[in-house]
Amino acid sequence: KRLILIGPPGSGKGTQSPIIKDEYCLCHLATGDMLRAAVAAKTPLGIIAKETMEKGELVSDDLVVGIIDDAMKKPSCQKGFILDGFPRTVAQAEKLDEMLQKQGTKIDKVLDFAIDDSILEERITGRWIHASSGRTYHTKFAPPKVPGIDDVTGEPLMQRKDDTAAVLKSRLEAFHRQTEPVIDYYNKKGVVAKLPAEKPPKEVTIEVQKVLS
Ligand code: ADP
Ligand code: ADP
Ligand code: ADP
Repeated sequence: KRLILIGPPGSGKGTQSPIIKDEYCLCHLATGDMLRAAVAAKTPLGIIAKETMEKGELVSDDLVVGIIDDAMKKPSCQKGFILDGFPRTVAQAEKLDEMLQKQGTKIDKVLDFAIDDSILEERITGRWIHASSGRTYHTKFAPPKVPGIDDVTGEPLMQRKDDTAAVLKSRLEAFHRQTEPVIDYYNKKGVVAKLPAEKPPKEVTIEVQKVLS
Protein backbone atom coordinates (compact mmCIF):
# COMPACT_ATOMS: atom_id res chain seq x y z
CA LYS A 1 0.00 0.00 0.00
CA ARG A 2 1.06 3.57 -0.67
CA LEU A 3 -0.46 5.91 1.87
CA ILE A 4 -0.35 9.60 2.76
CA LEU A 5 -1.28 10.92 6.22
CA ILE A 6 -2.44 14.53 6.25
CA GLY A 7 -3.51 16.43 9.35
CA PRO A 8 -2.59 19.42 11.49
CA PRO A 9 0.14 19.18 14.17
CA GLY A 10 -1.11 16.99 17.02
CA SER A 11 -3.84 15.26 15.01
CA GLY A 12 -2.31 11.83 15.77
CA LYS A 13 -0.36 10.97 12.62
CA GLY A 14 2.76 9.91 14.52
CA THR A 15 0.71 7.88 17.02
CA GLN A 16 -1.14 5.87 14.35
CA SER A 17 1.82 5.41 11.98
CA PRO A 18 3.66 2.61 13.84
CA ILE A 19 0.42 0.60 14.08
CA ILE A 20 -0.37 0.91 10.35
CA LYS A 21 3.25 0.32 9.44
CA ASP A 22 3.49 -2.97 11.34
CA GLU A 23 0.12 -4.24 10.18
CA TYR A 24 0.87 -3.77 6.47
CA CYS A 25 4.72 -4.04 6.49
CA LEU A 26 5.23 -0.53 5.14
CA CYS A 27 8.09 1.90 5.64
CA HIS A 28 7.30 5.06 7.60
CA LEU A 29 8.67 8.23 6.04
CA ALA A 30 8.13 11.28 8.25
CA THR A 31 9.75 14.39 6.80
CA GLY A 32 9.56 16.18 10.17
CA ASP A 33 11.52 13.35 11.87
CA MET A 34 14.10 13.31 9.06
CA LEU A 35 14.53 17.08 9.23
CA ARG A 36 14.90 17.04 13.03
CA ALA A 37 17.58 14.34 12.70
CA ALA A 38 19.41 16.52 10.14
CA VAL A 39 19.20 19.54 12.48
CA ALA A 40 20.53 17.50 15.43
CA ALA A 41 23.41 16.15 13.32
CA LYS A 42 24.14 19.66 12.00
CA THR A 43 24.26 18.44 8.39
CA PRO A 44 24.26 21.16 5.68
CA LEU A 45 20.57 20.46 5.12
CA GLY A 46 19.87 20.68 8.86
CA ILE A 47 21.66 24.00 9.13
CA ILE A 48 19.45 25.42 6.37
CA ALA A 49 16.21 24.02 7.87
CA LYS A 50 16.71 24.87 11.58
CA GLU A 51 15.46 28.45 11.79
CA THR A 52 12.47 27.89 9.52
CA MET A 53 11.36 24.92 11.60
CA GLU A 54 11.72 26.82 14.87
CA LYS A 55 9.42 29.52 13.48
CA GLY A 56 6.82 26.89 12.52
CA GLU A 57 7.05 27.68 8.82
CA LEU A 58 7.52 25.21 5.98
CA VAL A 59 10.96 24.54 4.54
CA SER A 60 11.38 24.75 0.76
CA ASP A 61 9.65 22.25 -1.51
CA ASP A 62 12.92 21.30 -3.25
CA LEU A 63 14.57 20.42 0.04
CA VAL A 64 11.86 17.98 1.22
CA VAL A 65 11.23 16.55 -2.26
CA GLY A 66 14.95 15.65 -2.39
CA ILE A 67 14.74 13.92 1.01
CA ILE A 68 11.66 11.91 0.02
CA ASP A 69 13.03 10.97 -3.40
CA ASP A 70 16.12 9.44 -1.70
CA ALA A 71 14.18 7.78 1.11
CA MET A 72 11.64 6.07 -1.17
CA LYS A 73 14.47 4.19 -2.91
CA LYS A 74 15.24 2.22 0.26
CA PRO A 75 14.55 -1.53 -0.06
CA SER A 76 12.22 -1.39 2.97
CA CYS A 77 9.93 0.94 1.01
CA GLN A 78 9.42 -1.34 -1.97
CA LYS A 79 6.33 -3.04 -0.49
CA GLY A 80 4.76 0.33 0.12
CA PHE A 81 5.08 3.35 2.36
CA ILE A 82 3.38 5.73 4.74
CA LEU A 83 4.17 9.36 3.99
CA ASP A 84 3.68 11.30 7.25
CA GLY A 85 3.91 15.09 6.90
CA PHE A 86 4.55 15.01 3.15
CA PRO A 87 3.28 16.37 0.75
CA ARG A 88 2.45 19.60 2.57
CA THR A 89 1.97 21.89 -0.48
CA VAL A 90 0.27 21.32 -3.84
CA ALA A 91 3.68 21.74 -5.52
CA GLN A 92 5.04 18.85 -3.39
CA ALA A 93 2.02 16.71 -4.33
CA GLU A 94 2.64 17.36 -8.03
CA LYS A 95 6.32 16.42 -7.67
CA LEU A 96 5.36 13.24 -5.83
CA ASP A 97 2.94 12.30 -8.62
CA GLU A 98 5.74 12.71 -11.16
CA MET A 99 8.07 10.47 -9.12
CA LEU A 100 5.44 7.76 -8.77
CA GLN A 101 4.45 7.98 -12.43
CA LYS A 102 8.04 7.24 -13.40
CA GLN A 103 7.85 4.05 -11.28
CA GLY A 104 4.46 3.13 -12.73
CA THR A 105 2.77 3.39 -9.30
CA LYS A 106 0.36 5.73 -7.57
CA ILE A 107 -1.07 6.68 -4.17
CA ASP A 108 -3.73 4.25 -2.91
CA LYS A 109 -5.21 6.29 -0.06
CA VAL A 110 -4.89 9.65 1.63
CA LEU A 111 -5.91 9.54 5.32
CA ASP A 112 -7.29 12.93 6.34
CA PHE A 113 -6.90 13.38 10.13
CA ALA A 114 -9.83 15.76 10.55
CA ILE A 115 -9.91 17.58 13.88
CA ASP A 116 -10.90 20.94 15.31
CA ASP A 117 -8.04 23.39 15.94
CA SER A 118 -9.24 24.01 19.52
CA ILE A 119 -8.13 20.51 20.65
CA LEU A 120 -4.58 20.78 19.37
CA GLU A 121 -2.88 23.10 21.86
CA GLU A 122 -3.45 20.70 24.75
CA ARG A 123 -2.19 17.76 22.68
CA ILE A 124 0.92 19.59 21.46
CA THR A 125 2.01 21.18 24.73
CA GLY A 126 1.64 17.83 26.56
CA ARG A 127 3.57 15.80 23.98
CA TRP A 128 6.74 13.91 25.04
CA ILE A 129 8.79 11.87 22.59
CA HIS A 130 11.29 9.05 22.78
CA ALA A 131 13.55 10.32 20.03
CA SER A 132 15.21 7.12 18.82
CA SER A 133 12.03 4.99 18.56
CA GLY A 134 9.50 7.73 17.75
CA ARG A 135 7.26 6.58 20.63
CA THR A 136 4.96 9.37 21.72
CA TYR A 137 3.54 10.05 25.17
CA HIS A 138 1.26 12.71 26.60
CA THR A 139 1.37 14.09 30.15
CA LYS A 140 -2.41 13.73 30.49
CA PHE A 141 -3.65 11.32 27.80
CA ALA A 142 -0.83 8.75 27.66
CA PRO A 143 1.62 9.36 30.53
CA PRO A 144 4.80 7.26 30.76
CA LYS A 145 5.10 5.03 33.87
CA VAL A 146 7.88 7.30 35.18
CA PRO A 147 7.61 10.97 34.16
CA GLY A 148 10.18 11.89 31.50
CA ILE A 149 11.31 8.26 30.99
CA ASP A 150 10.54 5.87 28.10
CA ASP A 151 8.57 2.80 29.32
CA VAL A 152 10.46 0.39 27.05
CA THR A 153 14.12 1.48 27.15
CA GLY A 154 14.31 3.56 30.34
CA GLU A 155 15.90 6.33 28.29
CA PRO A 156 14.93 10.00 28.78
CA LEU A 157 12.05 11.52 26.82
CA MET A 158 12.27 14.92 25.13
CA GLN A 159 9.94 17.72 24.15
CA ARG A 160 10.09 19.34 20.70
CA LYS A 161 11.35 22.90 20.60
CA ASP A 162 8.44 23.91 18.34
CA ASP A 163 5.76 22.33 20.58
CA THR A 164 4.78 25.62 22.22
CA ALA A 165 1.46 27.46 21.97
CA ALA A 166 3.12 30.34 20.08
CA VAL A 167 4.83 28.21 17.42
CA LEU A 168 1.73 26.01 17.11
CA LYS A 169 -0.13 29.11 15.94
CA SER A 170 2.12 29.59 12.93
CA ARG A 171 2.21 25.85 12.19
CA LEU A 172 -1.61 25.87 12.10
CA GLU A 173 -1.61 28.91 9.81
CA ALA A 174 0.76 27.08 7.46
CA PHE A 175 -1.50 24.03 7.61
CA HIS A 176 -4.67 25.88 6.66
CA ARG A 177 -3.07 28.02 3.97
CA GLN A 178 -0.64 25.58 2.35
CA THR A 179 -1.63 22.01 3.28
CA GLU A 180 -5.45 21.99 3.24
CA PRO A 181 -5.36 22.58 -0.56
CA VAL A 182 -3.47 19.28 -0.82
CA ILE A 183 -6.55 17.49 0.56
CA ASP A 184 -8.64 19.08 -2.24
CA TYR A 185 -6.01 18.01 -4.77
CA TYR A 186 -6.44 14.35 -3.74
CA ASN A 187 -10.22 14.68 -3.28
CA LYS A 188 -10.42 15.35 -7.02
CA LYS A 189 -8.69 12.00 -7.55
CA GLY A 190 -11.20 10.29 -5.24
CA VAL A 191 -8.62 8.77 -2.87
CA VAL A 192 -9.28 10.65 0.39
CA ALA A 193 -10.70 8.96 3.52
CA LYS A 194 -11.70 11.33 6.31
CA LEU A 195 -10.95 10.12 9.86
CA PRO A 196 -12.51 11.29 13.17
CA ALA A 197 -9.12 12.28 14.64
CA GLU A 198 -10.61 13.85 17.77
CA LYS A 199 -11.66 10.39 19.04
CA PRO A 200 -9.46 8.25 21.36
CA PRO A 201 -6.48 6.56 19.66
CA LYS A 202 -7.98 3.05 19.64
CA GLU A 203 -11.11 4.28 17.89
CA VAL A 204 -9.05 6.13 15.28
CA THR A 205 -7.08 2.90 14.67
CA ILE A 206 -10.33 0.99 14.06
CA GLU A 207 -11.43 3.62 11.51
CA VAL A 208 -8.04 3.37 9.77
CA GLN A 209 -8.36 -0.42 9.58
CA LYS A 210 -11.85 -0.11 8.06
CA VAL A 211 -10.56 2.25 5.38
CA LEU A 212 -7.59 0.03 4.49
CA SER A 213 -9.36 -3.35 4.53
P1 ADP B 1 1.13 14.41 14.95
O1 ADP B 1 2.15 13.36 14.54
O2 ADP B 1 -0.06 14.42 14.05
O3 ADP B 1 1.74 15.77 15.14
P2 ADP B 1 1.04 12.90 17.47
O4 ADP B 1 0.62 11.53 17.02
O5 ADP B 1 2.45 13.08 17.84
O6 ADP B 1 0.58 13.98 16.38
O7 ADP B 1 0.10 13.31 18.70
C1 ADP B 1 0.30 14.53 19.41
C2 ADP B 1 0.08 14.29 20.92
O8 ADP B 1 -1.29 13.95 21.16
C3 ADP B 1 0.90 13.16 21.50
O9 ADP B 1 1.32 13.52 22.79
C4 ADP B 1 -0.05 11.96 21.53
O10 ADP B 1 0.24 11.08 22.61
C5 ADP B 1 -1.41 12.62 21.68
N1 ADP B 1 -2.47 11.94 20.91
C6 ADP B 1 -2.34 11.31 19.72
N2 ADP B 1 -3.53 10.80 19.31
C7 ADP B 1 -4.43 11.13 20.28
C8 ADP B 1 -5.84 10.88 20.46
N3 ADP B 1 -6.54 10.21 19.53
N4 ADP B 1 -6.43 11.36 21.57
C9 ADP B 1 -5.71 12.05 22.49
N5 ADP B 1 -4.39 12.32 22.39
C10 ADP B 1 -3.75 11.86 21.30
P1 ADP C 1 3.76 18.36 12.88
O1 ADP C 1 3.83 17.91 14.29
O2 ADP C 1 3.43 19.81 12.75
O3 ADP C 1 2.94 17.50 11.98
P2 ADP C 1 6.32 17.70 11.55
O4 ADP C 1 7.15 16.93 12.48
O5 ADP C 1 5.69 16.97 10.42
O6 ADP C 1 5.26 18.50 12.40
O7 ADP C 1 7.18 18.90 10.93
C1 ADP C 1 7.96 19.75 11.72
C2 ADP C 1 8.49 20.89 10.85
O8 ADP C 1 9.32 20.36 9.80
C3 ADP C 1 7.42 21.70 10.13
O9 ADP C 1 6.89 22.73 10.92
C4 ADP C 1 8.22 22.23 8.92
O10 ADP C 1 9.05 23.32 9.29
C5 ADP C 1 9.13 21.07 8.58
N1 ADP C 1 8.52 20.14 7.59
C6 ADP C 1 8.21 18.84 7.77
N2 ADP C 1 7.69 18.29 6.65
C7 ADP C 1 7.67 19.28 5.72
C8 ADP C 1 7.25 19.36 4.37
N3 ADP C 1 6.72 18.30 3.72
N4 ADP C 1 7.40 20.55 3.72
C9 ADP C 1 7.93 21.61 4.34
N5 ADP C 1 8.33 21.62 5.61
C10 ADP C 1 8.21 20.46 6.31
P1 ADP D 1 -9.65 2.17 26.71
O1 ADP D 1 -9.39 0.73 26.46
O2 ADP D 1 -10.38 2.45 27.98
O3 ADP D 1 -10.18 2.92 25.50
P2 ADP D 1 -7.12 3.40 26.17
O4 ADP D 1 -5.83 2.91 26.67
O5 ADP D 1 -7.39 3.26 24.71
O6 ADP D 1 -8.23 2.75 27.04
O7 ADP D 1 -7.23 4.95 26.46
C1 ADP D 1 -7.87 5.58 27.54
C2 ADP D 1 -7.83 7.06 27.20
O8 ADP D 1 -6.47 7.50 27.20
C3 ADP D 1 -8.41 7.28 25.81
O9 ADP D 1 -9.68 7.89 25.89
C4 ADP D 1 -7.41 8.17 25.13
O10 ADP D 1 -7.91 9.48 24.96
C5 ADP D 1 -6.19 8.21 26.03
N1 ADP D 1 -5.04 7.62 25.34
C6 ADP D 1 -4.65 6.33 25.26
N2 ADP D 1 -3.53 6.18 24.54
C7 ADP D 1 -3.18 7.41 24.14
C8 ADP D 1 -2.11 7.94 23.35
N3 ADP D 1 -1.15 7.19 22.79
N4 ADP D 1 -2.08 9.26 23.17
C9 ADP D 1 -3.02 10.02 23.73
N5 ADP D 1 -4.04 9.60 24.44
C10 ADP D 1 -4.13 8.31 24.67
